[in-house]
Amino acid sequence: MKKDIKDLNLDELKQYFLSINEPEYRANELFHAVYKEKKENFHDITTLPKSLRKTLSNTFYIYSFKIISKYESKDGSIKYLFQLSDKSLVETVFMHESNQYGKMRNTLCISSSIGCPLGCKFCATGQMGLLRNMTSGEIIEQFMQIDKITKINNVVFMGMGEPLLNYDNVKKAIEIISDGNGRALGKRKIVVSTSGIPGKIYQLTDQISSVRLAISLHAGEQSKRDFLMPGLKDHTLTELRKAINYYTRKTGNTITIEYLLLKEVNDTISDVKSLVDFLKKLKFVKVNLIRYNPVPHVKFKVSKKEIMFLRFLQENGIRATLRKSKGPDISAACGQLATKLRK
Ligand code: SAH
Ligand code: SF4
Repeated sequence: MKKDIKDLNLDELKQYFLSINEPEYRANELFHAVYKEKKENFHDITTLPKSLRKTLSNTFYIYSFKIISKYESKDGSIKYLFQLSDKSLVETVFMHESNQYGKMRNTLCISSSIGCPLGCKFCATGQMGLLRNMTSGEIIEQFMQIDKITKINNVVFMGMGEPLLNYDNVKKAIEIISDGNGRALGKRKIVVSTSGIPGKIYQLTDQISSVRLAISLHAGEQSKRDFLMPGLKDHTLTELRKAINYYTRKTGNTITIEYLLLKEVNDTISDVKSLVDFLKKLKFVKVNLIRYNPVPHVKFKVSKKEIMFLRFLQENGIRATLRKSKGPDISAACGQLATKLRK
């Protein structure tokens, strides 16, 4: 069976070429052709000798996804539904939006697993359980499939899955996409959004420190967080705060705290006070308030306390913004990625 070339980082490719008695620099040529020039098959990589192109195409493939559907939202977001080689379905969302300076950027929201084992009560992916983790090649392919159509400026791991529970593959995918010999997307252009697994936050800080981190907090009070995010029960908020402090201190990066507002669940004045208490002991932090995107069979409602929350945070000296939902009309917004179409 052929293997995914995108599962190999530059060092592994060099090892492969040495093992077939080819010079190491072939790895750089191949990396450049696949990630920079976006060649779709080995026969087109004319920098490589013909016989080597043949060996490569007998051993590896570059792309394997099928685009099953493409939904365009009124706001310009596009949700792609890809079918993977084992017929699993995964969703990737393209967004064209302005950054903090008003410049238009293309952001791609990518998935790291099919389903998620953490079962957050408000999240469509969480309702599926974990079907399987994605390989690094599959994580990269979502990016490459879209990047060859429209140049992507930013990547956010906010699609399906908990990236830090598939740490090794996510790390490898980030390394390959950011490798200077290939696509060279700056690590600072990549946001890893996590429900907050302390041990993995330390590991990420030490190993891929330039990557941006966003923490899905959703409650500043332990029992409320345990209720909303049952899969995180084994990790206390105190532990999480220590890990966040380690990240911000060591990297100097600001951390984004995501807070999904759910009507009468975590949107009262006492909830915002708990949030402020949690944040007070942190440095370099900003809050993104998220509007709830309805999920079928889930009973939560959209909160009307957005402005109250925003003001309270700002009055307490905490930077806060309201994140507008992208593509809710096509179920492409965060937390709605659960492939209804699978059925
Ligand atoms: N597992 C990671 C990344 C994927 S979820 C995480 O939890 O951070 C990406 C974001 O979507 C998270 O902030 C998550 O809390 C949010 N989200 C989940 N369900 C949602 C919903 N129904 N409406 C709005 N945002 C949701
Ligand atoms: Fe998993 Fe994130 Fe959804 Fe929670 S919000 S179930 S961690 S994908």
